[in-house]
Amino acid sequence: MAISQDPQNPSRADTPPSAVANLAHIQARVAASTHESRPAPIVIAVTKTVPVETITPVIIAGHRHFGENRVQEAAGKWPALRKLAANMTLHLIGPLQTNKVSEAVGLFDTIQTVDRPKLAEKLGREMDTQGRRLDCFVQVNTGREPQKAGVDPADADRFVAQCRDEFRLPVVGLMCVPPVTDEPSPHFALLREIARRNGLNRLSMGMSGDFEIALMFGATHVRIGSAIFGART
Ligand SMILES: *Cc1c(COP(=O)(O)O)cnc(C)c1O
Repeated sequence: MAISQDPQNPSRADTPPSAVANLAHIQARVAASTHESRPAPIVIAVTKTVPVETITPVIIAGHRHFGENRVQEAAGKWPALRKLAANMTLHLIGPLQTNKVSEAVGLFDTIQTVDRPKLAEKLGREMDTQGRRLDCFVQVNTGREPQKAGVDPADADRFVAQCRDEFRLPVVGLMCVPPVTDEPSPHFALLREIARRNGLNRLSMGMSGDFEIALMFGATHVRIGSAIFGART
């Protein structure tokens, strides 16, 4: 571990900054951007494309919240990694196909990408079958991008109600990924407003480039990949 690094500026270290050092730096920035009056936001370390050797020291250092965007990749890495510690929380943050629901329910603790009735129905049934209750976030396509996953903001209230009442899903919050070219603030504000009027108190929003803005809008979960593990190739 590179303990000689300047914590204010890990990128200026002689040795490449370690994921553990980067995460500590992110946690400090999160703490500095959060009012003491509210619960500490959760930093989800996004480990897509990151090998197990790089993830292991982060678990050993005590971190417990991780995110993956593909079921297959998670299935190859996490059964072994989970053995390193108890109380691990693994979040699915990428699109979920209905034919992967059974595998996903067995692997993950939280599904952040619930966005259509067919998926919600299958998740509800599979959780009953496996006797597992996974926290669910409804993903909202706040930018209404045609290629992007997520429910249309205009349909969000109805879909949240349907997930709860019809499919008996434990919906705990909302998640969004704003358009890369947009100023993210209006998207975070919209997500917060939809959550408020639906009585949901968890907001998964903010990534490496914009998490401090997301925290100003009440993010309870930030999803950080490249700022911890370096740029993905
Ligand atoms: C990859 C990914 C992240 C992390 O992105 P960074 O910019 O590397 O922090 C967050 N959320 C989702 C949905 C992702 O796919």
